[in-house]
Amino acid sequence: MTTAPVETTTYLCTGCPLGCRLEVDAVEGDIVEIRGFDCRKGERYARQEHLDPRRPVSTTVTIEAGTLPRLPVRTAEAFPKDEVMRLVRQLQAMRVVAPVARGQVVLDDALGSGIDVIATRSMAADPEADAGDAGGDPQRARSSAV
Ligand code: SF4
Repeated sequence: MTTAPVETTTYLCTGCPLGCRLEVDAVEGDIVEIRGFDCRKGERYARQEHLDPRRPVSTTVTIEAGTLPRLPVRTAEAFPKDEVMRLVRQLQAMRVVAPVARGQVVLDDALGSGIDVIATRSMAADPEADAGDAGGDPQRARSSAV
């Protein structure tokens, strides 16, 4: 009878400035032990980081007819880490049209994740700008605020 080896992965807890060094032992992907945490928050973080790591995503998107050329946006909650670059590429390619309100959803259900991307500031329409000057078919920001 063969026994699957225990694989140990280490993480640095970001839950507070103490930065505890967390160790997760897993056998064939199943967690068997977590060590190094000083509180339950750290244990939860280690489990999440090992099984389903996520990251908040903040970037900017092109906005047409606004008072500035770029609109800052972020994911409404942490996004699956493996999909972050694909999301960033999609956001780099998209355009919204002013006006946009802070908290307004600019991309809903990003990549089918169930997570929205929202504006982190309001941007008024520039009365002298002409939406669509750059050509193409800009995606209009939705009017629902979160
Ligand atoms: S395990 Fe708890 S005490 Fe240690 S860094 Fe994380 S949150 Fe802070």
